Amino acid sequence: MEVSMLCTRVSLLILILSLCSPYKFIQSPMDFGPLNLLPTTTTASSDFGRILFHAPAAVLKPQSSRDISLLLSFLSGSSLSKVTVAARGAGHSIHGQAQALDGIVVEMCSLPAEIEFYKGGEISYADVSGGVMWIDLLEQSLKLGLAPRSWTDYLYLTVGGTLSNAGISGQTFKHGPQISNVLQLEVVTGRGEIVTCSPSKDADLFNAVLGGLGQFGIITRARILLQEAPQKVRWVRAFYDDFNTFTKDQELLVSMPDLVDYVEGFIVLNEQSLHSSSIAFPANVDFNPDFGTKKSPNIYYCMEFAVHDYQHKNTDVEQIVEVISRQMSHMVSQLYTVEVSYFDFLNRVRMEEMSLRSIGLWEVHHPWLNMFVPKAGINDFRDLLMDNVSPDSFEGLILIYPLLRDKWDTNTSVVLPDSGSTERVMYVVGILRSANPEGGCSHHCLQELLRRHRRIADTAGVHLGAKQYLAHHPTPSGWHQHFGWRWERFAERKTRFDPLRILGPGQGIFPRRDDSAAYGS
Ligand code: FAD
Repeated sequence: MEVSMLCTRVSLLILILSLCSPYKFIQSPMDFGPLNLLPTTTTASSDFGRILFHAPAAVLKPQSSRDISLLLSFLSGSSLSKVTVAARGAGHSIHGQAQALDGIVVEMCSLPAEIEFYKGGEISYADVSGGVMWIDLLEQSLKLGLAPRSWTDYLYLTVGGTLSNAGISGQTFKHGPQISNVLQLEVVTGRGEIVTCSPSKDADLFNAVLGGLGQFGIITRARILLQEAPQKVRWVRAFYDDFNTFTKDQELLVSMPDLVDYVEGFIVLNEQSLHSSSIAFPANVDFNPDFGTKKSPNIYYCMEFAVHDYQHKNTDVEQIVEVISRQMSHMVSQLYTVEVSYFDFLNRVRMEEMSLRSIGLWEVHHPWLNMFVPKAGINDFRDLLMDNVSPDSFEGLILIYPLLRDKWDTNTSVVLPDSGSTERVMYVVGILRSANPEGGCSHHCLQELLRRHRRIADTAGVHLGAKQYLAHHPTPSGWHQHFGWRWERFAERKTRFDPLRILGPGQGIFPRRDDSAAYGS
């Protein structure tokens, strides 16, 4: 064995011993052979949810896939070790999914961020680090007139972070989630092996990692499919006072992928939800609905869609919008359209972030719940939701839009509802609440909101066959139920790719025996 390798092994052994010790050894940067482990930071123990704060013992800022491989090879080679490791992308999880209590957090953003592009006649793609944010990929690919096909609403998320879930937005009905738009991955497995995988090479690992909640390996590179980027986007919003009409129109639009490029929608519960959702939409919206009273509220719905404008193609997007809207049944005169640059359209949530930051409402608690709901249950889900929401005081946004099942690959680890599986359409509903401690929502209020969300998730799971997206289950048995028939496959993949259960402790799916109490909240 080379001397340097021996030194590395000795250093890592010391690392394991120090991490297993009840005393916190890592109080300053420590040079474990080639691995520079840093003391923990507040960032490493927090996330966008601001609900859980689990401090790791150390942070790794890898400079290459090899750094991650060295760490995982050694940890997986020693059954002595109880050390866990979580990849942390942008930390925009809600329930501590990227945290590792007393373990090691790997800060993916420190990997070199260069992006390589391939522009071909048939196919174009970008090779990016798993720690690159989608906004950076967008900015760079636009310089070549290209862009990824499938997005999330917010772009300050990492490629590895969204691919570990699914990555959905208004383009998903047309192109599938982001995990359906990846050609190849480089993954460091829980055993420390660096594997390049794709649908035709090591397909099992490829499928496991996509939607795999960080359980099987760390995505260090991804090859993302690109398409020609439009210069502009015609962005349309239409209002409804009837839920069935709203969903019927949404389903109509997702049946027209040749005309429509994006479909979403949200519930308009009160003045605040109307105002905050209008920040990025630069049209003059003079919708002044009557919200009724606290006892008898009136609820509205807004459908939004977009049509790409490729200026060199001379397509008449206004004409296309006209053709589409003639078939819609929105409230009379309540349709608004505006043209914005493609970049501004995709980056729209950044404007909302800036506005919320300016009034101190971005870094607050975010008790969010996202659910995939079978089409047959969407009316009942709406009723369940309204039983658990006070329209006059709700703060945040409730998104509802349809997705098409045949755009999802069921070989990946992602979990979709089983019921209604013969129906092409299912819905995603995002209850994106803000709870501001300064505005009166401190500990008890937050716990009550979390309880309500759990009630919605449990009831919708049992009665409607809905499944959580970006799921959080407080117990391993909750996870078994979540995966259902997929559990065996998921557990078998874990045994194969991360047998010592080192990765992704913050998800609480495969707790190490002595961790179970910590993740039970
Ligand atoms: P993190 O929170 O850092 O990590 C998430 C999970 O992935 C953790 O388990 C972590 O260990 C694991 N992980 C991170 N990087 C890697 C890697 N390289 N390899 C393996 N595992 C890894 N989601 C949507 O689908 N659509 C949306 O429109 C959408 N909008 C959002 C808007 C906002 C404002 C926010 C805060 C979130 C939104 N999300 C949306 C959710 C978001 O996609 C997920 O929370 C995602 O995990 C965030 O990415 P991240 O880089 O912050 O990941």
